Amino acid sequence: MVSEDFKAMLGGKSVIRVLAEYATARGAEIGYENVFDYSLGNPSVPAPKEFTDAMIRLLTEEDPMTLHGYSQSQGIPAVRQKHADYLNKRFNMNYTAEHLFMTTGAAGAIAHAARAATKPGDEVITIAPFFPEYVQYINRTGAVLKIVPADTKTFQIDFNELENAFNEKTAAVLINTPNNPSGAMYTEETLKTLADMMRSMQSKYGHDIFLISDEPYREIVFDGKTAPYPAHFYDNTLTCYSYSKSLSVPGERIGYVAVNPKATDADIISVMCGQISRGIGHNCPPSIIQLAVSEVLGVTSDLSVYETNMNLLYDELTSLGFEVTRPGGTFYIMPKALEKDSIAFCNKAKDHDLILVPADNFGAPGFFRMAYCIDTEKVERSLETIRSFVKECY
Ligand code: PLP
Repeated sequence: MVSEDFKAMLGGKSVIRVLAEYATARGAEIGYENVFDYSLGNPSVPAPKEFTDAMIRLLTEEDPMTLHGYSQSQGIPAVRQKHADYLNKRFNMNYTAEHLFMTTGAAGAIAHAARAATKPGDEVITIAPFFPEYVQYINRTGAVLKIVPADTKTFQIDFNELENAFNEKTAAVLINTPNNPSGAMYTEETLKTLADMMRSMQSKYGHDIFLISDEPYREIVFDGKTAPYPAHFYDNTLTCYSYSKSLSVPGERIGYVAVNPKATDADIISVMCGQISRGIGHNCPPSIIQLAVSEVLGVTSDLSVYETNMNLLYDELTSLGFEVTRPGGTFYIMPKALEKDSIAFCNKAKDHDLILVPADNFGAPGFFRMAYCIDTEKVERSLETIRSFVKECY
């Protein structure tokens, strides 16, 4: 008999996927260029030449047995060492190769970090708005995801709400900065306050509480700023990174967990992750991709288009009277809908071939998300549609 549990999930497809499928089908009818599809967070710029060149060099010069063979379960040692050196230089940390664990994207990183830091029945707190897949990422470990309501004014953390969420079962806090879906980037002050609160909760409950920091948008930051590095503020941090967005290679499934050297059991967590892999089948990302990313550390795609698109949308939306917090990074923006029911709002937009995602599943009812990882020319053309949609419906 098939699993009733997973079978039941078939009725609950991701809203984002459903909308993206609708946009594709509608595109087949009227031409995809006429559908303003702001649904999916799929990078719209190509991988950088450096990455392609690294792949070509590896394929033409390296030993096929090395390129296509299994890697060690924690990842290729030289790749982990290069990552440690790079992160130490960039963030003034003290990682060694032993603190790095190569993963299949951020999803793989969180799958390992969550299991390393929890046992079944524990609670993992996350802060709305949040990436809806966190429900699966965490609840499938046997731990339980607990959601702290959003501070909808700033999309930083509502610390009163957070404080109330801790109890003796809290094993970890899962954050995402810069944030999908709000685009907000946590300030140093937010991260310091979070770290202080987590330290005091560790003392209060007498056990470790890990910070799982999901950072796939670390490089997509606006206004010439850089994202504060959460591991700087809190020792028990497991940093989860992905190259999906920074190198525009989401299909290559590559990222890592970096264990703060000051964390409890820092020297064994990556080894434990190797054991966790055995049970969840996420073991060993492809060797060639591990090698390729380690040759281009610090390189990114040309990410500037996202800031251009954000500014176009932010200016238009604010001039139309939308309440919206200006994103600090990512390729998302999350304005408040013009009616209480954001699902009804997005359905009306859909009738104008404007595909917006209600943010209810992101823990922000009444808001909607736009993923502006699309061509700037299309964003520009969509502004007139946004204007006419608002004029006709509100
Ligand atoms: N975390 C967040 C916040 C994301 O937005 C995504 C993907 O969109 C992921 C994790 C998963 O990333 P990956 O494709 O690298 O597994």
